[in-house]
Amino acid sequence: LAELALLSPAERWQLVAEWNASGLTLGPAAGGEGERLEGRFWSLASRRPEAVALSGSWGAMSYGELAGWSNRLSRYLRRLGVGPEVRVGVSLRRTPELVWSLLGVLRSGGAYVALDPGYPPERLSRLMADSGLSVLLVRGGEGGEVPPGVRVVDLEREMPAIRAEERSEAEAVELGGQSLAYVIYTSGSTGIPKGVGISHGNALGLLSWAAESYSAAELSGVAATTSIGFDLSVFELFVPLSCGGRVVLFDDALSLLAGGGEEVSLLNTVPSLAAELWRSGALPAGLLALNLAGEALPGRLVRELSSSRPGLRVHNLYGPSEDTTYSTGGVVSASEATPSIGRPLPGRRAYVLDASGGPVPQGGLAELWVGGVGLARGYLGRPDWTAERFVPDGLGGGRGERLYRTGDLVRQLRDGRLEFVGRRDHQVKVRGFRIELGEVESALQSHPAVREAVVLAAGEGAQRRLVAYVVGAVEGAALRAHAARLLPGPMVPSQLIGLPALPRTAHGKVDRRALSRLAPAGDDRLAVAPVGPRTPTEELLVGIWEDVLERSGVGVEDSFFDLGGHSLLAVR
Ligand code: AMP
Ligand code: MG
Repeated sequence: LAELALLSPAERWQLVAEWNASGLTLGPAAGGEGERLEGRFWSLASRRPEAVALSGSWGAMSYGELAGWSNRLSRYLRRLGVGPEVRVGVSLRRTPELVWSLLGVLRSGGAYVALDPGYPPERLSRLMADSGLSVLLVRGGEGGEVPPGVRVVDLEREMPAIRAEERSEAEAVELGGQSLAYVIYTSGSTGIPKGVGISHGNALGLLSWAAESYSAAELSGVAATTSIGFDLSVFELFVPLSCGGRVVLFDDALSLLAGGGEEVSLLNTVPSLAAELWRSGALPAGLLALNLAGEALPGRLVRELSSSRPGLRVHNLYGPSEDTTYSTGGVVSASEATPSIGRPLPGRRAYVLDASGGPVPQGGLAELWVGGVGLARGYLGRPDWTAERFVPDGLGGGRGERLYRTGDLVRQLRDGRLEFVGRRDHQVKVRGFRIELGEVESALQSHPAVREAVVLAAGEGAQRRLVAYVVGAVEGAALRAHAARLLPGPMVPSQLIGLPALPRTAHGKVDRRALSRLAPAGDDRLAVAPVGPRTPTEELLVGIWEDVLERSGVGVEDSFFDLGGHSLLAVR
């Protein structure tokens, strides 16, 4: 397998094709799999049940075992009425149970709704209510308020009953490519998260591209480090399992710092995390391919990687959740000053268009509109939001086709590749986490003492963070606690800056540019006055914190996390 990495893609595929022909290993499975996301997994599991499907610090699980558990759960769920279009919330920690639960939901014909158990209870309650769940899979507690009528399946309590189900192949429920496979929530500018509904056909488009683009060696150990609340997880889990590869399960990407990367051949993560792993020497030694996605890829990282890991294939992959994980991409090289986001993947379309949907001259900066096989069904239960962003395709799509307006500003290079430049709205990325600043602002404004709040993103890479400018008689710690009850960690502002009034432009609009100039390195007037360092050690530590957190005025009683610290910065 190691030698495979030295071959050209064409040679590699020749070899893999020969292997497949000899029936020894990997490759597309034969027949009977239907148009479903996990279809190939079932055929592989029946053809080579003993192959390792999943491994981690807890041990390993074969395709057969994984299929056995998924089948049991599927039978159990069928009895509870789960079937096509029925939504099943999955709020489980990252153990093998999570993987067979997702497969079990799909087998039963239902769609999973990704609910990260790490989210604050109020947010989980809101997502559960919005998604119209019928069943919720948990272990131990619910994590939030379950809407009336939802059947909670607690795997801890109900395991004996699930175990008692037959493990042999559960009847596959007939599904069409249009059937809902999963729902992933993303930030909404109006303050309400948006559930993106992805069909089996959408996801199959991603899988067939991956099967053609990655070698068997690359898929022999795919690290699954991403929460199922993000669509990178769909690549990490379902690509290896439908190509005969193996998923190596981790709690998150930073777990690689503690080892366990020996079996990893492919890592799929955001550039800011990859950069931190690289700096800490924790990129797996046997890594053959690195998928970087979810935020702009700095050219410097590509250059550093290519000089330290010359054999490594680095892909820059671009795509919104609304277009099934990846819309465009390509292998990047150190010679590109700004790594491009490549070209549309097979079955996808991408256009650079002006506001009215007309073409712009080659090289002009304009919005990217995408279409094709990955285009989501829309936002769950929100036809109005769907209509706003998914518009009829007047350009080369077939009848009834749509395009999704990404809101991303790009430019097309002479050779057709695309270059990502920025956003045309107030959506930002913080360590790959997609955030509508409007959603954070409305969470802050829901505090009774806040009169006005404007949020901006500042800093780069691991140091990227949200800064909130607040007008109102509120204490910093109280407001931060309020925000943390409503929002996931990366959406809680690291700095809260109190102002008597917001600066405005001549037209009366909030002057965001003036605010960003104001962004002081930590003049956190909403916070209680810090206690300064009293000993040389405290002085040294405060200095380190100020450096890492990019702010001044750190006190010895401050909480690292309240000041915007997180696991990436803790590593530093
Ligand atoms: P999400 O829905 O979380 O996948 O976020 C999608 C957004 O992330 C896109 O609309 C872009 O703004 C940004 N994004 C994703 N991938 C890339 C990339 N490779 N380069 C630059 N921006 C990206
Ligand atoms: Mg994406």
